[in-house]
Amino acid sequence: MDFGFTEEQAMLRDMARDFAQNEIAPTVEADEEKHVYNEALVKKMGELGLFGCLAPEKYGGTEMGYLAASIATLEIAKESPSYGVTFNLQMNAVQSVLLAFGTEEQKKKHIPSLITADAYGCFALTEADTGSDVASMRTTAQETADGFVLNGSKMWISGVPLATVGIIYAMTDREKKHRGMTAFLVDMKTPGIEQRAITEKLGLHSSPTGEIIFEDVKVPKDAVIGKPGDGFKIAMFMLDRTRLSCAARSAGVAEKCFELAKKYANERIQFGQSIINFQMVQDQLARMWCEHEAAKLLVFKAAWIMDNLEKAGGRPTLHISTAKYYGAESAVMAANEAMKVYASYGYGTEYPIERYYRDAKSYQSVEGTSNIQKTIIARNFIEEKKE
Ligand SMILES: Cc1cc2nc3c(=O)[nH]c(=O)nc-3n(C[C@H](O)[C@H](O)[C@H](O)COP(=O)(O)OP(=O)(O)OC[C@H]3O[C@@H](n4cnc5c(N)ncnc54)[C@H](O)[C@@H]3O)c2cc1C
Repeated sequence: MDFGFTEEQAMLRDMARDFAQNEIAPTVEADEEKHVYNEALVKKMGELGLFGCLAPEKYGGTEMGYLAASIATLEIAKESPSYGVTFNLQMNAVQSVLLAFGTEEQKKKHIPSLITADAYGCFALTEADTGSDVASMRTTAQETADGFVLNGSKMWISGVPLATVGIIYAMTDREKKHRGMTAFLVDMKTPGIEQRAITEKLGLHSSPTGEIIFEDVKVPKDAVIGKPGDGFKIAMFMLDRTRLSCAARSAGVAEKCFELAKKYANERIQFGQSIINFQMVQDQLARMWCEHEAAKLLVFKAAWIMDNLEKAGGRPTLHISTAKYYGAESAVMAANEAMKVYASYGYGTEYPIERYYRDAKSYQSVEGTSNIQKTIIARNFIEEKKE
């Protein structure tokens, strides 16, 4: 059933769904197996305008908004959680930050090529010793007469080693802790930058992930996004947007696992009947149904709030973290239950369930772990009590 989408949003959903089913699905298993990021497919998604939902027409976008972006992301992630990540990098992370904090020059230079996928985006907060506690990062940016010099390294960065443009967070004044963090818009081909692939990981094999080393990397003064010291504020703004993308991807995975389990439960015969006739299997499917429906509604609500910030009265963070937390847990639950419905056939690689099972686990870590989302959610209640 449709969810009161506008005609435009429904058309976008159908286009993304058709693309996922007709262009991505036929090669998804082979690409995952070989760890291939199919750039031709990504370029086609760019040509269809799927990465242009946030930006105004003058930069090549449609400005349909975060709900539209979430709908498209969900549909692609349903077939390929790996290519779902691309939506985050091209759109929710880099473009949203540039649109809100970038100069006109930065926007004109980078947004059109991110939409068409002629440029590949990334954002880098995480380091080997810095995960949830982002303000403890060690990458530094030393100011010089004509710019800044970056030194340090980043870990677990999506889009690496293919990224051509990145939002790099570094400390310009470590004494000031989070107030000493600055966001830089960096050409990832700048001398001194090395991007290394992380080839061994549990899932998302068609989504490149890697490490970035910065060794005396000279960036100009106009690489600063906002002003020095704005980095933490920009990171929190960005994480609201990237968490929404993650929530949309996880809702897509939860939905796909439900659909696959429903199909298999109808087809699989044991004790002379379809296993869907057994009440315990029905219980599993009913719970998966409720979980993914709830996850989707939370994504749509959070995205609607993001598109209607004034009407919704303030920051979207509580609703974003709710959707992100619930989506991640629902996707893991759905993949786990689907594995049980498929039993040994789920454990094998003939069916895609084990892929979703592996990919779903990423949602509990990326863009802030499930614990961190619960902390953010609960912090709202403490503040409310004080007032
Ligand atoms: C596939 C993949 C892609 C990624 N892409 C990117 C990217 O593009 N850019 C980027 O910057 N990062 C990226 N990351 C990194 C990811 O965002 C971090 O791994 C994540 O934020 C968690 O950090 P950590 O792994 O260091 O865990 P830690 O912070 O070390 O946490 C370890 C455990 O302690 C818990 N914990 C920590 N602090 C608290 C607390 N205050 N309260 C309760 N529990 C707590 C956590 O919940 C977790 O269970 C990616 C990671 C993966 C796996």
